[in-house]
Amino acid sequence: MQQAFQFKKKYGQNFLKNSAIIDKIVTIASVPKNTLIVEVGPGAGALTSALAKLNDVKVLAYEIDTSLEDPLIAFMHQYPNVTIYFQDFLKSNLEEDVAAYTFDHLYFISNVPYYITTPIIFKIIDSNLPFEKIVMMVQKEVGLRFCAKPGQKEYGALTVLLDYYFTLKKEGIVDRNQFIPKPNVDSMIVSFTERLEKEKLTDPAFFRKLVHDSFQFKRKTIRNNLKNYPLEIVEKVLHTYHYDLNVRAEQLPYSVFVDLANALCSK
Ligand code: SAM
Repeated sequence: MQQAFQFKKKYGQNFLKNSAIIDKIVTIASVPKNTLIVEVGPGAGALTSALAKLNDVKVLAYEIDTSLEDPLIAFMHQYPNVTIYFQDFLKSNLEEDVAAYTFDHLYFISNVPYYITTPIIFKIIDSNLPFEKIVMMVQKEVGLRFCAKPGQKEYGALTVLLDYYFTLKKEGIVDRNQFIPKPNVDSMIVSFTERLEKEKLTDPAFFRKLVHDSFQFKRKTIRNNLKNYPLEIVEKVLHTYHYDLNVRAEQLPYSVFVDLANALCSK
């Protein structure tokens, strides 16, 4: 199929050509029985088929490229536990599609199209579906941002938001030569495990806005970035963590932002 197939850059089509990497993703995911796995972008079906072979799982996949429909349907004929919707994942009704299944565990496993990595993650978060684990291949630089710790240069608003929802782990770098066509960047496998004991957020949308505002100008202090917020409340919360208004957002762990958001909401 690959000879006749025209890869589409606009869809982030870089297919994995090394089955050892596919096996690695599957091993990292360690999928238990009776799991529904959601995948974005089966492509030629390499990862999809490896997932379908697992014991007692179902795979629900979304592929935007309708030119892959005939070959994928033919290939997946041998895997009745796979359903593929040929549509844009970002426009799908994920909640409704998942509701058609019964399962004990819900996982997301995908070599994602890199141009929509962050929207995919926020669609998963905003679905409020009980995803226990996410294993994703992402662009290496993006993976470093996801997994950064406070004080590291890659630490940013996205890191803080993800830290609230998940425990993130770098699972390994994947060289660009493992893909066809070869992309201009290396990749990273990242796992996200749902944090079960999450602090309650009074208003999740406000939390997101506060985090984005706090990082608006990376080199500026919290006093400057949050100058439109009641700074006496911000200062009071920071003091409980032994910080003051001269701290920069990049130094603060996610839990400080949770407390700040909740304190500012209840003012
Ligand atoms: N899973 C295959 C693999 O690992 O070799 C292909 C991964 S490739 C990086 C990304 C796939 O996502 C492509 O098949 C692409 O057509 C598909 N895709 C891109 N945008 C999409 C979207 N918005 N919704 C669903 N699939 C999408």
